[in-house]
Amino acid sequence: MKKKNITIIILLIFLFGLIFNNKLMSFAYPVYKNIAKTKIENNVKNYKTAYSKHFIIKYTDSDSKYVDLIIETAEKHYYDVVNDLGYMPTDKTMIIVYPTPYKMNRDFSLVKGDDAMGIYLVGIISIQSPALWIKPGQNLKEVFEKEGPVVHEFTHLIVDDIAKGNYPVWFTEGLALLEEYRQDKYEWGEGYNYNDKPYTLKQLTDDFDTLDEMLAYKRAFQVTKAISDKYGMSTIRSILKDLGNGMNLKESFYKETGEELDSFVLSVKG
Ligand SMILES: [Zn+2]
Repeated sequence: MKKKNITIIILLIFLFGLIFNNKLMSFAYPVYKNIAKTKIENNVKNYKTAYSKHFIIKYTDSDSKYVDLIIETAEKHYYDVVNDLGYMPTDKTMIIVYPTPYKMNRDFSLVKGDDAMGIYLVGIISIQSPALWIKPGQNLKEVFEKEGPVVHEFTHLIVDDIAKGNYPVWFTEGLALLEEYRQDKYEWGEGYNYNDKPYTLKQLTDDFDTLDEMLAYKRAFQVTKAISDKYGMSTIRSILKDLGNGMNLKESFYKETGEELDSFVLSVKG
């Protein structure tokens, strides 16, 4: 695996989806999100703070040497991602730099052993210290920018804001990988092949977390890229707005393209 960048998205969103219907969720989720966000901010209130135009970086002493690089990378891609998805966050975005995976997992109540390079949750981006995954001798700046989690997690943040929590996990993962591709030409799962047929929409929607991880992310990327290739980023922007208004993804895709999403996914080459 070239890069370990499994974002743990939001079991909570899934739970909300089960409890509420889409419309209620797009109303209730932003409220819940603010409460949860404050709790996480409290956990790192003793961390040092650096500010840039659009970001707030929380970090510990051992990571002070990375702060400029993190800010530079985040700001460099800010407008590209914002313009692609058609939304600018109203507040500065917090990025927490965790010195150990243990601390990050604890603050996010992740299952032990599940070490993601970055996490997006409830309006906050968290990343592991570059010291934990970039080896001495590697080109720090280049590796962090191209393989690092910043563009990926920032995309999750914007998707979540526009769609108000109302989206399937595969769709936000696909969009995050699509943005990485558009920004850095980083192509997820290149060289990995499906043993069987590529995953269907139903599998992506219902079983994303239990499918083969590489291939599930690869399929999510292929499908979102195919949507942008055929219909353009403007259609993706419209779909995100529809989701934020409580429409589900299938309804929105049909409204914006006149095609059924199931058959569109089947038509995307694996
Ligand atoms: Zn992700």
